Amino acid sequence: MAYDFNNVFAKIIRGEIPCSKVYEDSFALAFHDINPKAPVHILIIPKGAYETYDAFASTAGDAEIAGFTRALAKVIAQAGLEGGYRLITNAGPHSHQEVPHYHIHLLGGRDLGAPLLG
Ligand code: AMP
Repeated sequence: MAYDFNNVFAKIIRGEIPCSKVYEDSFALAFHDINPKAPVHILIIPKGAYETYDAFASTAGDAEIAGFTRALAKVIAQAGLEGGYRLITNAGPHSHQEVPHYHIHLLGGRDLGAPLLG
């Protein structure tokens, strides 16, 4: 399916709607989730137009993938989650992905309970 340039995260990247930014560089943007599910709930998104993890990992350039991965590490370090954290990415209808722009949820700040595969 073609990438939807009108999705909410594309609008945030273009500065058309605001976000509560925690980190930005040339490859990535991170901001607080508008409906947090934990004391820390940050979304990290690449600046390029990718709908899912697999679209990003298979078609983004090496520098973009490395830059995004390093940005994610910086956001995790900045969040100071001594007790640990969970990363989640949804893709497609079975996962209930709401926003069709690849994003990683960084969750922490409390015991997050058993994971799906626990
Ligand atoms: P997903 O189900 O993985 O697509 O998650 C999308 C996430 O984006 C949800 O946790 C929403 O609360 C969050 N979200 C939607 N719109 C915004 C927004 N404008 N700013 C910040 N977070 C948002």
